[in-house]
Amino acid sequence: MKKACFLFLILSLVFSCRKNEKLINPKAQVQTNLSLPNDSGQSKFSIIIHGGAGTIMKKYMTPEKEAAYRQKLEEAIRIGHAILKNGGTSLDAVEKTINVLENSPLFNAGKGAVFTHEGTNEHDASIMDGKTLNAGASAGTSIVKNPITLARAIMEDSPHVMLSGSGAESFAQEQGLAIVDPHYFYTEKRYQALQKLKDKAISKSEFNIKDSFYNRDINDSKFGTVGCVALDKHGNLAAGTSTGGMTDKRWGRIGDSPIIGAGTYANNNTCAVSCTGWGEFFIRGVVAYDISALMEYKELTVQEATKEVIQSKLTKLGGTGGVIAIDKNGNLAMEFNTDGMYRATMNDKDDLYIGLYKN
Ligand code: ASP
Repeated sequence: MKKACFLFLILSLVFSCRKNEKLINPKAQVQTNLSLPNDSGQSKFSIIIHGGAGTIMKKYMTPEKEAAYRQKLEEAIRIGHAILKNGGTSLDAVEKTINVLENSPLFNAGKGAVFTHEGTNEHDASIMDGKTLNAGASAGTSIVKNPITLARAIMEDSPHVMLSGSGAESFAQEQGLAIVDPHYFYTEKRYQALQKLKDKAISKSEFNIKDSFYNRDINDSKFGTVGCVALDKHGNLAAGTSTGGMTDKRWGRIGDSPIIGAGTYANNNTCAVSCTGWGEFFIRGVVAYDISALMEYKELTVQEATKEVIQSKLTKLGGTGGVIAIDKNGNLAMEFNTDGMYRATMNDKDDLYIGLYKN
């Protein structure tokens, strides 16, 4: 009898602990609805990437430069597409695709990150799982080779959503992620862009730092953030964004890219979104979540929602940039109010599209 009572006590303790764990664990799994398979009975899949928005115009391009961008965008999207085609997860597709762009000096993320006012490189990144609404983000790291991989590790292997600076770097080291000397991120092109911007500010006698920052041309800031959104065969959406931020940023400035809801968002009930552009405006407009909210509460399509938020709301606010988004049925949207946005899409029929300019 005593034994039975003891067993009952232990069982009820275990049961109540598990229940409490669900209540107190900030990252407890939330199961959202999965998308339905398409007519053929097999789920659709698709992927979109961006490599930043800005003054991307044919007249500023050489054929070699354009070919290099196209080639890298294609290489990256094919990595993610192959993962999805083989039945892999949208999270894997997003991370591995972004890794390719982070390892290229062409984009403002990872290797090609822009410089801070002090001449350093500080990376921001985030990733979100539309199935569970789990998310991970890192801000202001300088030695982690692939910030999107760190963001994913934070999501999966830490009890937190966002880590920053030296703490995030210690976590990356503990996780055995690739660590590099800060000099790895030096590229002459980005360094010269910083010098140019500083010279311009001095020649204009811009002593009001706030005005000088807001008066700059979008192209001065050398946008080039990278992002990826994907829908896998299991009906799960994921989104990720990685950036070096803005040239000449100061005081540990953090943009929208690592902020869930501003630069990145994913929810299986609505869509997956990754943003690029002037981060301050994307934070104030809560752009990524706003697109999802318009779909959830106003039943807008993904194209209608992205258009409304970028062409109306963001533009009225004075912000510039763009977004990529996929809905739970694989519908794609790419919207920007700049002259161009590096972008590519692939679907389950292997159709590849690569775009740089407006039309
Ligand atoms: N949104 C990024 C930031 O403000 C920059 C970019 O997308 O180019 O940090």
